[in-house]
Amino acid sequence: MKITRLHGFKDMFHPETQRLRSVEDTVRKVFERFGFSEVIIPVLELSETYSTGLGDTTDIVQKEMYTFETKGGEWVSMRPEGTAGVVRAYIEHSLHRKSPVTKLYYSGEMFRHEKPQEGRQRCFNQIGAELFGSRDPLADSEIIAMLWLAVTELGLSEHVELELNSIGKPAERELYKKALLEFLSQKKDSLCENCRNRLTTNPLRVLDCKTDTCVELTSGIPFSIRDYLSEQSNGHLDALLRSLEEKSIPHRLNPRIVRGLDYYTDTVFELTTDKLGSQNAVAAGGRYDLLVGRMGGPETPAVGFAMGLERILLLLEKTGTRRNSPGKKQLVCIIHIGDEAREKAANIADDLRRKGMRVETEYENKSLKSQMRKANRTGAAYSVIIGEDELRGKVFSLRNMKTGEEKTIPLEKLAALGGHGDFRKLL
Ligand code: ATP
Ligand code: MG
Repeated sequence: MKITRLHGFKDMFHPETQRLRSVEDTVRKVFERFGFSEVIIPVLELSETYSTGLGDTTDIVQKEMYTFETKGGEWVSMRPEGTAGVVRAYIEHSLHRKSPVTKLYYSGEMFRHEKPQEGRQRCFNQIGAELFGSRDPLADSEIIAMLWLAVTELGLSEHVELELNSIGKPAERELYKKALLEFLSQKKDSLCENCRNRLTTNPLRVLDCKTDTCVELTSGIPFSIRDYLSEQSNGHLDALLRSLEEKSIPHRLNPRIVRGLDYYTDTVFELTTDKLGSQNAVAAGGRYDLLVGRMGGPETPAVGFAMGLERILLLLEKTGTRRNSPGKKQLVCIIHIGDEAREKAANIADDLRRKGMRVETEYENKSLKSQMRKANRTGAAYSVIIGEDELRGKVFSLRNMKTGEEKTIPLEKLAALGGHGDFRKLL
């Protein structure tokens, strides 16, 4: 029987792995410029972390979590997102006592049992940031500016749009929900089945539905959530919009954005693109002033977002965006002829690697021709060739693989090479 990977899970190899790490690294450096530091949290948590954190009626908790009972009888879940775990850790380590404002970021795999398709996997990577301890709209603005700078540095700012909205405080949202429910109930038959269920569980989510008939119906709603926001909530949104204007961060107010998680208050935002079909969100976030309290910590305002790394990779590919990759170190191939040289080659390779060079050699005895072919195929910049004659004369041949230039050089010069391995000087 052939064992295969799970449906909806992916194996990733070079060069895609390198692209993913390079995107992650770019984003990480932007986060660090904004004073965020990394937190590493477990992939597995008690299921309560997510059911309390995200809310029982959310799609994630109701349908998408990998939940199971451990041998010890605990119910645990693979993390479907990062925020709830970071909040759990923030509370567990009383981070609010250490500093009034805490800025953390995380990066890693998330697990959701949803229908796999392009841009949607059951295991995917997110990098995300959370800012605790400020209620000020300038904190929202800073988080959004950070996200915007990250996509700018990735070369993607022309291909994405920042959409934002306010969903106010729970009491304000309740009033809006009521009005929405009244409006939608009258036209219940035009809703998709999923949305008909949502009328009882979470009517706001109908605004998020991508089914044509639902979109058509909700576009005709004659009122918006802003009509139900208090002066304070409206003021928060206005101050954020002003700050984004001043920072020249392009954005669009979209009253349809509600987000699928229960923990948001006031600001919600999404970074969307028209290049990835219906998987159009590459990052999403918002303010969640009630979550820390809800999870048993001291009332602490917070704001954050998460970015889907695989969707960023897809977008880079679809838009043909070229990124300056740091590039690999130049490769040196050690080519050997004869048994004695074979062992010598292994030692030379080891020595050069210790000096920091990238080195390939063959384990087995192979013909000069085949080893040369491999050196060419793997893109080696230089080859070090040792045969019996060379060993006897304590020399080696150095070949510049691009120009074909070749020279015989005393072996001791190889040992004396510095960490940068400047073979050019030897030729
Ligand atoms: P969507 O509407 O696409 O389902 P979401 O609202 O569930 O997204 P969030 O929970 O806010 O997404 O996660 C933030 C980001 O993580 C998304 O914008 C997306 O880029 C990425 N993401 C979410 N789910 C998946 C998935 N199943 N596969 C790949 N990336 C994902
Ligand atoms: Mg989703």
